[in-house]
Amino acid sequence: MTAPAWVIRGGRVVDPASGHDGVADVLVRDGRIAAVGEVGDAAGTERFDATGLVVAPGLIDVHVHLREPGGEAKETIATGTAAAAAGGFTAVCCMPNTAPALDSVDALRDLAERVRRDGRVRVYPIAAITRERRGVEPVAFAALAAAGAVGFSDDGDTTANSAIMRRALAASRELDLPVMVHCEDKALAAGAMHEGAISRSLGLPGIPAEAEEIVIARDLMLARLTGGRLHVCHVSTGRGIALIRQAKAEGVRVTAEVMPHHLVMSDRWVAGDRTLHNTDDPAGNPARPADPETKVNPPLRSVEDTRLLLAALQDGAFDLVATDHAPHAVADKAGKPFAAAAFGLNGSETALPLMLALVRAGHVSLPDVIRWLTIEPAKLLRSPLGTLSPGAPADVMVFDPQERWVLTPETMRSKSKNTPLLGMTLLGRVRLTVVEGKERYRA
Ligand SMILES: [Zn+2]
Repeated sequence: MTAPAWVIRGGRVVDPASGHDGVADVLVRDGRIAAVGEVGDAAGTERFDATGLVVAPGLIDVHVHLREPGGEAKETIATGTAAAAAGGFTAVCCMPNTAPALDSVDALRDLAERVRRDGRVRVYPIAAITRERRGVEPVAFAALAAAGAVGFSDDGDTTANSAIMRRALAASRELDLPVMVHCEDKALAAGAMHEGAISRSLGLPGIPAEAEEIVIARDLMLARLTGGRLHVCHVSTGRGIALIRQAKAEGVRVTAEVMPHHLVMSDRWVAGDRTLHNTDDPAGNPARPADPETKVNPPLRSVEDTRLLLAALQDGAFDLVATDHAPHAVADKAGKPFAAAAFGLNGSETALPLMLALVRAGHVSLPDVIRWLTIEPAKLLRSPLGTLSPGAPADVMVFDPQERWVLTPETMRSKSKNTPLLGMTLLGRVRLTVVEGKERYRA
């Protein structure tokens, strides 16, 4: 079946890659962008009235956990990619901490087969750095790259062995693929939340910022040594991104991502506060302290860290925004005491509204938010996606920046509902998601 032709009419088309920002129609034909401008009424085209809405390239999330194979109680490729489409994402990169891990050509082939069957959006696999993600034996980097891996990561676990990290970065230079690092000194990070006054008052074991920063510093040094492509995942501390900013200035090949939750939530959320920092949005109702839904790794840091991360996003120290969508079943979260609960927030369906809150507060521009979620991740992946330029694959999303809605378990397409934003009013909602010319979500 060929994809239908579409005219998405009259929206504010924001395409940072081409610099376009203005009211226009978008014509889609044969799965590609055919034209952006004033498009006549072509016969046989499906119409979508985008008057008053924003039309953008499909968002790209370089950091999600789809859980399949092995974690289907939390998420599947079907539900995880449906959640992505509902969040405006048309492409996601899935992390390899599945069971089995994505550490072999066979595992990548099996994943591709599952994605062909169940995927609602494009899925690009990130392969493990080490076999079974145990940090001991490096994977066959070149073979995995040839089998479709778009990067390497032992996300969830830091590759503690510096010699192995050196080899991974050397391979990344040869293959021109990023090594995407989760920076955490495990021994130092043996806690449940950010270490500070709040962890002490709640009596919860702390994770000091230094546990993250120490490993960022090491990986920057190894990137310098090897000339490899380092991508630092989910930077959560002000000093962590300062190290990256400095390394960039010195010519180290490093990129970095920030998560929406680290920009607007702090360790105060663990204490029950539901204020979205750096925004003018109304706070949610205070919640019980030590709600496991606020437990994430790296943890929600201090309010000062949220400010420093936002400043780093504004000044270009961060390259892009990703979600670290980390679904967990109720039994792993709300059903457990904080210290024993799983780390991770559900993120695909709330990323855009959280970023739009920063736009409304005047801290960042709408075109920049779209840039951090489209062309910048596309650059990381060396992908032709992330733009509405004629000829590009027709991955398009349309959203209403003004629509107010309440996040509830029923609104969520993800199989898991683990987010402290449940019950809060969000502003900005995806209305249409199109992948290669095919409708994947409509609200
Ligand atoms: Zn991680």
